[in-house]
Amino acid sequence: MPTIHQLSPSVVNKIAAGEVIERPASVVKELLENAVDAGSTRVDVRLEKGGSEVIRIADNGCGIQVDELPLAVASHATSKITSADDLFSIATLGFRGEALASIAEISRLLIRSRTAESTSGGELEVVGGLASPVVPIGCPVGTTIEVRNLFFNTPVRHKFLRSVQTEMGHSIEAMTRLALAHPHIHFTLAHNGRTVHDLPPVNDIRGRIAAFFGDEIADDLIEIKSENDGVTLSGYVANPMHSRATGRMQYLFLNGRAIRDRSLQHALGEAYRGLLLTGRQPICFLRLEMPPDAVDVNVHPTKQEVRFQDSGRLYSQLLGTLRTKFLTTDLTARGSTTSADFSSSSGEVDSATSGASELVQWAKQELSKQVQRVESPLVGREFGAGEAPARQWSLPSEPLRLHRLDEPASIELGSRFAPAEHQPSSRLDDSHAGSTSNALQVHNRYLVVETDVGIEVIDQHALHERILYEQLREKVLGGALESQKLLVPEPVDLTATESAVALEHSELLARLGVEVQPFGGETVLVSSYPAMLANLSPAEVLRELVEKLLVGGRQPDARDLLDELLHMIACKAAVKFGDRLSDGEIDSLLAQRHLAQDQHHCPHGRPTSLVFTRDDLDRQFKRI
Ligand code: ADP
Ligand code: MG
Repeated sequence: MPTIHQLSPSVVNKIAAGEVIERPASVVKELLENAVDAGSTRVDVRLEKGGSEVIRIADNGCGIQVDELPLAVASHATSKITSADDLFSIATLGFRGEALASIAEISRLLIRSRTAESTSGGELEVVGGLASPVVPIGCPVGTTIEVRNLFFNTPVRHKFLRSVQTEMGHSIEAMTRLALAHPHIHFTLAHNGRTVHDLPPVNDIRGRIAAFFGDEIADDLIEIKSENDGVTLSGYVANPMHSRATGRMQYLFLNGRAIRDRSLQHALGEAYRGLLLTGRQPICFLRLEMPPDAVDVNVHPTKQEVRFQDSGRLYSQLLGTLRTKFLTTDLTARGSTTSADFSSSSGEVDSATSGASELVQWAKQELSKQVQRVESPLVGREFGAGEAPARQWSLPSEPLRLHRLDEPASIELGSRFAPAEHQPSSRLDDSHAGSTSNALQVHNRYLVVETDVGIEVIDQHALHERILYEQLREKVLGGALESQKLLVPEPVDLTATESAVALEHSELLARLGVEVQPFGGETVLVSSYPAMLANLSPAEVLRELVEKLLVGGRQPDARDLLDELLHMIACKAAVKFGDRLSDGEIDSLLAQRHLAQDQHHCPHGRPTSLVFTRDDLDRQFKRI
C-alpha cells in the first residue's frame, strides 16, 4: 500500500524548476526580468559556454536588502504582490516568486546586492538549494547574480543541453525580447569575454531591430500607431517583401512583456492576406499597452501566454490598424538593375530586395507621391491629397468598364449560355482600341511603362489576377456576383468523394455563382456558373473548385476557403502569361489597376510590378 507524504521543499523546487528552467536561456530570461522589475537603467549579461557554464547578470536597479537575501531565494517569496487581488493588476514581469528558488535548486548561485539606503551590501551563495549564511561585502548599488554549472545536480536535464551555439542562440533570443520591449534600458551582452551586443538606451526600437536582425529589415519597416479605448498599439511591421517561413519573427509585447497570442497572430496573418506568398509569415515588432487589469497574465508558468478581457476588440484593432496602414503605404516591390539580381527578379518576393538603399528610398518617396490612388467605389475611401495622378495612370474620362462580369445579360439563341455574349480570348475591355498605348508589351507577358521616376515592369497576369480577385471578392461578399444560367444544365461526372464534397459545399459554390444539384450516382448537375469564367467549360470549373475544396476543406475557417476559391477563379479568368494584348486591352488593364486596393501584389503575394529608377539606370550606365 503506497503511503502519502508531503514532498520536501527541495523536491518541490526541482519540480518548479522543471517547469520554468528548461535551458540557460530560461535563466537569462528570468534574471533579466528581475533586473527590469528592479528599475535598472543598465543591465550587463556575461555568458560562458552558451550560459551552461556561467551566466552573470549585473544591474543597477533598486537592489535587495541584505536581511532579505535569504527570502529572495526562498520559494513563493516575492516583493511584487501581496494578496490574490494583486494578481489581476500586475504591472511587473515577475510575481510568482519562484524563479530564484528554482534556479538556486539546480545550480551554484551567487547573489551580491546593495540598496541605495545601505552603505554596504551582502553576498549569498546557494549550491543545489543549500544556502550559506549571508556575508557583508562592499559593492555598488544594484544586484549581480551569477549562475554557474546549471543542471549540475540534475543530470537528465544536463544531457539535454545542446551545442554552445544553439544555447547561445536561445539566450540571445531571450535578450532580444527584453531589449526590444525595454528600449530605455542599456543592455550589453558578452559571450566568452567578447562583446556580442552593446545597446545604449533609445527612444525608437528601429536601431535595436537593426542590431538584432540587420539593416535590410530595419530599413523596410512600416510604422504602426493606433489608440482605442485605453489600448495603444505601436511599433513596426515589415514590408511584405520581407517574410519568414515561420512566425518566429513576430514580436508582440504586452505592457513590456513578450507574449505569444494565437488570436493576434491570426489578425496579423489576415492583415497580410494576399500580400505574402502562401506559407510565408509576416514580421512584426508590435507593442500593446493597456491597463494591467484588462489582462490576466497568470495563466502560463513562463507567463508567455496571457488572457485578454476583450480579445475580440484587440483583434479588430490590430487588423484594422494594419489594413488601413497598408492601404496608404506604397508597397511596390523594387527592381534592381544589377545583373545578378536581374536574373532572379522574375517575380519572387524576396528577390528584389537589394540595390542602393538610399536611392531606392528616394525613389520610393517619389513614387508614393505619384501613385495617389484614386477614390474608387471598391475602396470607398479617399487616398492621398491634392496631387494629380501621373499622366499614364490617370483614369479615362468615360466610366470604366470593369470586365465581363458587369455586362448585362443578353440572350442569344443557339448558345449554350443564357446571357450568351461571346467571350473574347482576353477578358479585358478593348474599348480603348485605336489608341496607342503608353505601355509596351514584351514577350507577351510583361508591360513596360515609363514613369516619372524611371520605368515600371508589370506582370500582366499577376496584375489582372489581382484586379479580378478584388472585384470578385467585393461582389461575392456583397452577394452581387453575376452567374450565367445554362440553358441546358451540364452533367459532370465526378468521383464519389468529389461529388460528396461538391454537394456538401453547394451553398458556398452558389455564392461563387456555381449552382450544383445531385443527378444520381456520382454525377452532379451544373446549372449555372460565374459569368466571368464563360470561356471555360462548366466541368472544368467545377473540377477545379472541387479540387480546392478537397485540399482546403480541412481549413477550419470558411473565409480562407472562399478566398482560395476566389484566387482560383481570378487566376483562371485573368489574361495569361503569354497572351498577346491589344493596345486597348493594355490601357484598360493599366487604367483598372487604380481600382485595386493592393495593386502591387497578386493574390498569392507575388509582386505585380517592379520599378527601375532612372537614377539607378543612369548609374548602371555610368552616366552619374
Ligand atoms: P519574482 O520575480 O516572481 O518576484 P524571483 O524569484 O524572480 O520572483 O525573485 C524573488 C524576489 O527577489 C523578487 O520579488 C525581488 O524582490 C527580488 N529580486 C530578484 N532579483 C532582483 C534584482 N535583480 N533586483 C532587485 N530585486 C531582485
Ligand atoms: Mg522574477
